Amino acid sequence: MHCAEVSRNKSVVINGRKYAGHAFGRMQDQGFIPSVVENTIQNNIGLPNKYPGRVNFYDAVNNVYVVIENGEEGLDKTVESLEKMVASLLDEYLGMQDPQISEIAIVGDSTWLICPNCFDAWESMSSNSMVFCPTCEHVCHNPRFH
Ligand SMILES: [Zn+2]
Repeated sequence: MHCAEVSRNKSVVINGRKYAGHAFGRMQDQGFIPSVVENTIQNNIGLPNKYPGRVNFYDAVNNVYVVIENGEEGLDKTVESLEKMVASLLDEYLGMQDPQISEIAIVGDSTWLICPNCFDAWESMSSNSMVFCPTCEHVCHNPRFH
């Protein structure tokens, strides 16, 4: 079972280990994706924690447990900062070559890429080493990266 705790300093604690910034790759290695935390908060009703000001969220589908420290009033802010954290972690991750991924996006034309997984095309001018398909959320190598 994964225990995830999101604190005000935008780090994520999973099973007692703290993850921040550059740790996205390590989180992936362990099968943990930041969007799982986000989904847990958005799709489940928060229950009071034994500590005042903390709210528990449990997602039975992914078996993920998330604790929000600043209570229900701060939930929107927490979700917002979590979204920013996920976006910046993803940005950082896409900037590095991932040797575990072998798939390369297909060049459609000068601005479009085609996903080798779902064959959907998206507009991308990214110069990162990895790109992210917005349809199936598949990460693959950027054919324009040199
Ligand atoms: Zn795709």
